[in-house]
Amino acid sequence: MLRLSNSLTRQIEDFVPLNPQIVGIYTCGPTVYNFASIGNFRTYFMADLLVRTLLYDGYNVKYIMNITDVGHLTGDNTGDADTGEDRMEKAASRENKTAWEVAQFYTEQFLEDFEALNLTEPEIFAKATDHIQEQIALVKRLEQRGLTYQISDGVYFDTSKFPQYGELSDLDQIKEGARVEINPEKRNARDFALWKFSYPDGVSMEEYQQELKDSGVDKPILKRQMEWESPWGVGFPGWHIECSAMSMKYLGESFDIHTGGIDLKSTHHPNEIAQSEAATGRKFVNYWMHGAFILIQGQKMSKSLGNVYRLYDLQKQGFEPLALRYLYLLTHYRQEMNFTFPALEAAQNALNHLRKECLKLASLSRSAAEDEKKLQSSGDEEFEAKFEEAINNDLNLPEALRVTWDLVNSDAAPLDKYVSLLNFDKVLGLNLAEYVEENRQEVNFTIPREVKSLIEVREQLRKEKKFAQADQVRNQINNFGFDIEDSPEGPKVVKIFND
Ligand code: AMP
Ligand code: ZN
Repeated sequence: MLRLSNSLTRQIEDFVPLNPQIVGIYTCGPTVYNFASIGNFRTYFMADLLVRTLLYDGYNVKYIMNITDVGHLTGDNTGDADTGEDRMEKAASRENKTAWEVAQFYTEQFLEDFEALNLTEPEIFAKATDHIQEQIALVKRLEQRGLTYQISDGVYFDTSKFPQYGELSDLDQIKEGARVEINPEKRNARDFALWKFSYPDGVSMEEYQQELKDSGVDKPILKRQMEWESPWGVGFPGWHIECSAMSMKYLGESFDIHTGGIDLKSTHHPNEIAQSEAATGRKFVNYWMHGAFILIQGQKMSKSLGNVYRLYDLQKQGFEPLALRYLYLLTHYRQEMNFTFPALEAAQNALNHLRKECLKLASLSRSAAEDEKKLQSSGDEEFEAKFEEAINNDLNLPEALRVTWDLVNSDAAPLDKYVSLLNFDKVLGLNLAEYVEENRQEVNFTIPREVKSLIEVREQLRKEKKFAQADQVRNQINNFGFDIEDSPEGPKVVKIFND
């Protein structure tokens, strides 16, 4: 039984899906105004572990992740997210690109790293700008229920009309004073924008310019690049509404699990709940999971400290993306993780070591085809039971990794070990099978000289159609503990494993 820590109830609970056939998961994805950091990826890694564990347990999963390419302002994630500039438009002027180009560029970069870290690809990467109409429809629905009001900079959700507001949040711990520039037009400090206007009251740029002129002000105004018509005026969606609109579109009005970084727990996620539940009258999500942050040598990752690392920064120093993945595995997702380069180096070494062990075990079976056959056997039951217990215990991957090494170091039968290691790797995601496949040839280079020449003799005999003699030579080869497999690319040497 899978048990998960649910931020909503603040308890570890048995996971019971709404529909036993298929589990719905939504993860708050990146805002594509810059490179995603190794901190951001830790959060997506948690979602990946969740998906892999569910698949390991035999569930089907429908997994959706959004890509925020509009509407996320520079105001603070844990306080007022409706203030400041639009991150995309700000990046566009910084980089002398259009906001659309910025979005495309960083989305591509994100997807590259995503793949390199072997993160399970969602069924859909849903872009906010591809779902503007769905977001408008949801705001309309809220408006029809009398839950919204309009002020000069946009349409807001009235949190006083949703009494359960903030059940997920730790907001009561956040002092009102700590919140940035509370908009005085808002009815309640915690109300949040559903639709923001490009220009005051939703007028067009031309109208706004005219208004300014009429009042004697003559200043140039910058045209917003990403803006749309709406029933309330020209503008763009508030940051939170995209996640409600897109998750409900693909997963239904109620679904199983929603994940994100811990910083989203106090504002973004409570706002998602409020919008969704107020519109549908139904419970939005059953399980909320939040990943703890990464620290860099004990400090917060921040531009001013110059310690915002992305995958490329690690690759430049000779580390593989999967070494970072291994490092992530070592800390439970609800624990803050302290990133250091020595720790990354240790992770890279451990990964290399694990691969070598795997390769050794693989070389004991005759061929990939045989591996395939053997993989249908179940592996080492005792270790598999321990591994399953660990992953199902709120995704305790540090423990699962310990079990993996205990297995490697145990005196279990080599092929059982191998089978179990590849099974475990369905969750660990270290691409062990691929490594073995790519390096199997290398193992075969340890073939003794005698065997090599016997292979040539056999090939010659086969060419001459002297098959009986060729078979005799093959027997000699077998006596050396090797065998030949004929493949379209020619004969392949494999070691014989006697089980
Ligand atoms: P953003 O692109 O800023 O919207 O953030 C994307 C995701 O990364 C969110 O779920 C954040 O909670 C998460 N995140 C941001 N910084 C960190 C960090 N240092 N460690 C872990 N997760 C983070
Ligand atoms: Zn979200």
